Amino acid sequence: MTRPSGLNVDLHSHSTASDGWLSPQAVAQRAADNGVQLWALTDHDELSGLPAARAAAESHGIQFISGVEVSVTWANRTVHIVGLNVDERNVALYDGLAYIRQGRIVRAQAIADKLEQLGIANAYDGALAYVSNPELISRTHFARFLVDKGYSPTINDVFKRYLGDGKPAYVPMQWATLDEAVTWITQAGGKAVIAHPGRYEFTDLQFEALFRHFKEAGGVGIEVITGSHRSDQYATYAQVARRFGFEVSCGSDFHGPGKGRLDIGCLPPTPADLATVWQDWLTT
Ligand code: AMP
Ligand code: MN
Ligand code: MN
Ligand code: MN
Repeated sequence: MTRPSGLNVDLHSHSTASDGWLSPQAVAQRAADNGVQLWALTDHDELSGLPAARAAAESHGIQFISGVEVSVTWANRTVHIVGLNVDERNVALYDGLAYIRQGRIVRAQAIADKLEQLGIANAYDGALAYVSNPELISRTHFARFLVDKGYSPTINDVFKRYLGDGKPAYVPMQWATLDEAVTWITQAGGKAVIAHPGRYEFTDLQFEALFRHFKEAGGVGIEVITGSHRSDQYATYAQVARRFGFEVSCGSDFHGPGKGRLDIGCLPPTPADLATVWQDWLTT
């Protein structure tokens, strides 16, 4: 697929190294089929998919950017910070991610206990059957189990009924702090980007505080065009970028074919007046 003008950029996507449906190679293949020219794999809290993704991207002539999506707790809520153009061999980043991954297995057991109380047996083993990377058991894997077993019609419904914040099988987590996440990414030579701001349920005052805190911590970018935003939110966050002097990023947040609003490489264009996170990275 080709876009009417400009470069086809997609800097947010997931593979089986976290909660995606496709291997890093298969995500690269789909990116190539959809005409992506600059691509980042950004698995949750995990770098292990990057070497295979890079090799596959290069074989397709796609410029590859190493990425990661870091889970952060801010104001008692989960916020995602994407790190782009990171050196995946950086020890501070690697150790930081290993540290926040640790809590996932204990949380998964607690989720399974809550589901058991709701009459859903064996959810831990059930979810694990969908997991490729045992350190990265996620709510998405539980959701796949619940849908396939007929407890819910869709993954979105699972989050609404069971796994979303405050729902009966929700288990709170302490992820990284905002300062930790931005520091790890920056020390690894990357740019920190606020992922899909439109998804967070903050008040206007909290959003202002989040953007200010992020900027003071050394964050540089914000996602404007993302598969996690409704189209009416694009203008809202373009305006935030202008006000705070953030560079903008864009990405489908692809998890698998038919899984999100946007397929990989099928994004509407970024508003032309905005500086982009990728402007200094282009090699062609
Ligand atoms: P976790 O990191 O284990 O807390 O899982 C979070 C992941 O669940 C996100 O990265 C999304 O892929 C997925 N997710 C969260 N909310 C929803 C939703 N309402 N519908 C579908 N997927 C969701
Ligand atoms: Mn996800
Ligand atoms: Mn996210
Ligand atoms: Mn994501």
